[in-house]
Amino acid sequence: MSAAADADAAPRPKHLLDLADWTPKQIAALFDTTDVMAQVMTRTIKKVPALQGFTVGTLFFENSTRTRLSFERAARAQSADVISFAAGASSLSKGESLKDTLRTIDAMQADLYVVRHPASGAPHQLTRWTDARVVNAGDGRRAHPTQALLDAYTFKTRFPEFAGFEGVKLAIVGDVAHSRVARSNVELWTKLGAHVTLCGPRTLLPEEFGERSGVTLTHRLADAVEGAHAVMALRLQRERMAGPLLPSLAEYRARYQVSRAALALAHPDALVMHPGPMNRDVEIEGPLADDPRSVIEAQVANGVPVRMAVLYTLLVGGKGRA
Ligand code: ASP
Repeated sequence: MSAAADADAAPRPKHLLDLADWTPKQIAALFDTTDVMAQVMTRTIKKVPALQGFTVGTLFFENSTRTRLSFERAARAQSADVISFAAGASSLSKGESLKDTLRTIDAMQADLYVVRHPASGAPHQLTRWTDARVVNAGDGRRAHPTQALLDAYTFKTRFPEFAGFEGVKLAIVGDVAHSRVARSNVELWTKLGAHVTLCGPRTLLPEEFGERSGVTLTHRLADAVEGAHAVMALRLQRERMAGPLLPSLAEYRARYQVSRAALALAHPDALVMHPGPMNRDVEIEGPLADDPRSVIEAQVANGVPVRMAVLYTLLVGGKGRA
């Protein structure tokens, strides 16, 4: 058996912490399940009993709009019960440790936790303290696997002429250094066979990315966008910046804003993507966000069936608590 076939025979991971442990075949199976879930979301009654009797806990130690709502929608659309925890409204603000907080919540017997945390590695840490499955909904700057899955799924549905991702060119532009979305997309798209070009100013584009196969780094927007099938703009993550990393916002805009003019160099059907939240007229030209080439709303919509597929695959494929 070849190494690739061997890898594809690997047991499905218990958790979704990042995409490193998921083989291309397992990801393709997840996308097939997503197709079924997307079909459910087109029905008048958008609810199936697939996860009846399971409880999903959403544990958000960092703010979120799209991701938390999307996971909760994904759980409820499959008839799971949902318990929600938000750090601001909890005893964490009274000094309770992460471990004690998890122990308290875990006593309520959820089968799967969806976790967002500002510290890289926090979801991995939680897997040591619970028997439940854990899905990473964004940890520090490290990983945001369901965002990458919904980005790639959105591309796949909008660019059906590509059977897979071989030959696909993705450009990711902006604050790559602080972006877990960039890291997870690099991991996923290169694993599926696409080429990823990362673009930004020197201070926001760590050289370490250039060592990965299937990845090119550039400081010139025109080089990144040329021939790209999808261009993803990233927000400047000021909350994760230790000091001033940009000479001026005006200069940043002039050199790195994803604009209609810049898109002229891309593939004629190129898609414009953004994980949100968007700062219009900073990393993306306002009107381009509303242009027919923009799939930003489709990304949000696809988040629900992708997360339905993730919950279903981890819970039903593996029977809840170990
Ligand atoms: N929503 C994405 C994240 O949680 C991107 C961002 O915040 O800019 O990483």
